[in-house]
Amino acid sequence: MMDVAANLEEIQSMIGQACKRSNRNPEEITIIGVTKYVTIERTEETINAGIANLGENRLEGFLEKYNHFGNKANWHFIGTMQSRKVKDVINHVHMLHSLDRSSLAKEIDKRAEKPVDCFVQVNVSGEESKHGLDPGKVIPFIEEIEKYSNVHVVGLMTMAPHIEDKDRLREIFRNLAELRDSIKEKKFPHAPCEFLSMGMSNDYDLAVEEGATHIRVGSKLVGS
Ligand SMILES: *Cc1c(COP(=O)(O)O)cnc(C)c1O
Repeated sequence: MMDVAANLEEIQSMIGQACKRSNRNPEEITIIGVTKYVTIERTEETINAGIANLGENRLEGFLEKYNHFGNKANWHFIGTMQSRKVKDVINHVHMLHSLDRSSLAKEIDKRAEKPVDCFVQVNVSGEESKHGLDPGKVIPFIEEIEKYSNVHVVGLMTMAPHIEDKDRLREIFRNLAELRDSIKEKKFPHAPCEFLSMGMSNDYDLAVEEGATHIRVGSKLVGS
């Protein structure tokens, strides 16, 4: 297994090239190291390589890593959040990437000690198996959750399907970016919606070209 530092160098170089192609500044992009597959030791190596943002998709993994490392990293929750688990983690979450229903927003509002930065998860590709809201339901959803003052919508998140078709992947990322733009224009005080959480190991370069601000990279960074 390669060093995390060596993997990171390669990822940063790919990001740099994608930014050149799309006229972007690499500083706009946050790499979230997804440590769900790996041990505490490998997670420590990731932090030492300079990754300040880590992501976990399951409550157990999140708490294991959070309890070990505490504030040595910013902790992103990227998986489906069960409402009854919100109270156990929400006050340790730097950003929640999977807000997808108003019952979850309500529970966050109740349990959070201060406003939580959330991405609304969108099912852009329309696959049955994917979580997230249909694109057409996102704006009504954001309007509906305005009453939950501890829920702050900072952006949109999507998971692209595992396909090789780059044009299709690009189209999915572009659709999410357009939806983000249309929400941003509305200037909702509770939903500035500036960010785009999109791109994983196999497609982060395309996602960066299409405007990703947060990429979630697991296997290519830390191994699987
Ligand atoms: C696992 C996971 C990732 C990272 O996947 P890789 O393909 O290993 O980079 C990103 N986002 C979510 C929501 C995940 O569950």
